[in-house]
Amino acid sequence: MPARLIDGLALAQSIRAEVKNEVAQKAPAVGRAPGLAVILVGENPASQVYVRNKVKACQEAGLHSQLIELPLTTSQSALVAEIDRLNHDRTIDGILVQLPLPDHIDDHVIIHAISPEKDVDGFHPANAGALLIGRPRFRPCTPYAVMRMLASVQAPLRGAEAVVVGASNIVGKPLALMLLQAGATITLCNSKTQNLAEKTRRADILVSAVGRPKLITADMVKPGAVVIDVGINRLANGALAGDVDFDAVRPVAGAISPVPGGVGPMTIAMLLVNTLESFHEHTR
Ligand code: NAP
Repeated sequence: MPARLIDGLALAQSIRAEVKNEVAQKAPAVGRAPGLAVILVGENPASQVYVRNKVKACQEAGLHSQLIELPLTTSQSALVAEIDRLNHDRTIDGILVQLPLPDHIDDHVIIHAISPEKDVDGFHPANAGALLIGRPRFRPCTPYAVMRMLASVQAPLRGAEAVVVGASNIVGKPLALMLLQAGATITLCNSKTQNLAEKTRRADILVSAVGRPKLITADMVKPGAVVIDVGINRLANGALAGDVDFDAVRPVAGAISPVPGGVGPMTIAMLLVNTLESFHEHTR
């Protein structure tokens, strides 16, 4: 029997509808809607699509969104000044700076400049540290999305073997922490991992976040495993694909998320959830 499909698009739609409902209930009483500022530096076409999708999702859910498009030549200090202005703007609950930034700007300096109270991406060291010690404020949106997708199929996490392939600060590492806190035993793999297939075959929960098409093949998957594909790869024919060889893995897995239509739309939904949470904090 082919694996159950984890439909990220449908799940995201229902979460966005819940956010919209909550905003409609609370905003009139408070006198404002939750506000998200999205900053884009330069004209990276993929980033332009991502930020427009985020802004559109905000508008559809009744959030106030501000898209700030800055030229490629923007200096690091000018960007920090813009972030500081938003840190003090009472109509803004969340600030997101779209990565990657141009080479002359240091990501760490910029992430550090965002007030941890408005860091809805959850990348600030204060928020990363809060997650590490099990007291999260804002969870990074992509791993948060993966956790919601696992919950949607009632994947048992306590005592499960969870293998995360890819160990970046924005996906793999925070996801491993979230799975650990949910009671899973985690294996976190990177580009130096030896015998990757040996590790992945142990997984009850297998997540790939690398950016390499067909990295995960059917022989690397334990029968019945829940497989979540975070990867986004543009193929030579222009199509989008994940890291998982979807057609070959689906007959082996118990549940599987597709690309597109999996983690991508859920990541945006969780950004709205974080912004709403921040709005609640700021309007208590
Ligand atoms: P990243 O910063 O480039 O990190 C990639 C990770 O994969 C690194 O830890 C790297 O190891 C590891 N890796 C590389 N080759 C490997 C291999 N052969 N075997 C095992 N691990 C390997 O990437 P990222 O920002 O986390 O993104 C990963 C993928 O997810 C990309 O395709 C990206 O587009 C996608 N993504 C999707 C969403 C979404 O919303 N759906 C959000 C974010 C990212 P080292 O640490 O040793 O270098």
